[in-house]
Amino acid sequence: MDTCEHCSELRELWHNERTGLAVCEACDIELNRPALFEVVAETTVTVEAPREDVQLLDRVCAGLSVSLTWRPAQDDCLLTLGLGGASACVSVAHEAALDAFEHPVLYLDPAVVSELGVR
Ligand SMILES: [Zn+2]
Repeated sequence: MDTCEHCSELRELWHNERTGLAVCEACDIELNRPALFEVVAETTVTVEAPREDVQLLDRVCAGLSVSLTWRPAQDDCLLTLGLGGASACVSVAHEAALDAFEHPVLYLDPAVVSELGVR
């Protein structure tokens, strides 16, 4: 038992790494708190939140569904064309995404398009 160099209470003392003082357990925790916060803050900044796919646009016309999904992980957009129960998709660049959404048939493999039954 000794006198805490921080709160002056008579307690069992610990050596506080951060300040170099001989302090009681409560003061030791108190004095280390800013260091803990710094660690937490650093972790928060460096950890990047996972980015999920985002559906940007979708439309249905005469039974034909067209949707455009942004895929951050792949850094592209996914154009999906569906008719009835069948669907086909193709990866398109950001610049072409809107045009692909307007004219999906032009961006898909002709064989796939005829397989879907799109005319
Ligand atoms: Zn103390």
